[in-house]
Amino acid sequence: MNGPAARETRSTCPYCGVGCGVVVQSVGAHITGVRGDPAHPANFGRLCTKGSTLHLTTAPHLQAQLRALQPMRRADRSQPLRPVSWDSALDEVAQKFAAIVQRSGPNAVGLYLSGQLLTEDYYVFNKLAKGLLGTNNVDTNSRLCMSSAVAGYKHSLGADAPPACYEDLDHAATVFITGSNMAWAHPVLWRSAGSSPTRAAPKPPPWPTCTCSCCPAPMSCCITPCCT
Ligand code: SF4
Repeated sequence: MNGPAARETRSTCPYCGVGCGVVVQSVGAHITGVRGDPAHPANFGRLCTKGSTLHLTTAPHLQAQLRALQPMRRADRSQPLRPVSWDSALDEVAQKFAAIVQRSGPNAVGLYLSGQLLTEDYYVFNKLAKGLLGTNNVDTNSRLCMSSAVAGYKHSLGADAPPACYEDLDHAATVFITGSNMAWAHPVLWRSAGSSPTRAAPKPPPWPTCTCSCCPAPMSCCITPCCT
């Protein structure tokens, strides 16, 4: 008897903001492998170690422990989790929010959103928070974890958002990296930065110690005397 056919599904690595495209290989409901999507403009087929081992997180014994496949509820912390339907879970959450707003006002509710959401998702959640719940307390990890960088952008470049896109790396004559070991922290983007046809190599990373990001740079500005 023939089993389920192997399939490939294009998706996005969920781990970091580089947003690499992946091709997920599966047989039935089981994910069997993953590879970089050669057609994706963020990574052109490259993946870092985390992305290239994504499929290992879906091993059946891990999924059984970690993955919630439907809403779970417990009456209190001493009780075991029990599955409930989506309708019942959503009704309960809506009722609890409504009760808090009625009792303490809308600003008693705050929403903290994942940094992995897309702009359109943020729009919808802001509508929910500000338009429906009436609270101003909504923010995302993408803004809060970037707050010090954003202050730096504003001071140095006059705009409070990263003012470049990946394609700019192809056209840059110089890439100035500060305070980052990009070769380790963003290896896929690092390799893109090094593959520009208009540039020999990424440029100087001022950083307290010599890191892998210093290796191909024609100039580096390590700020401690331990650098050789
Ligand atoms: S750089 Fe690595 S962790 Fe980040 S999105 Fe790409 S594959 Fe995933």
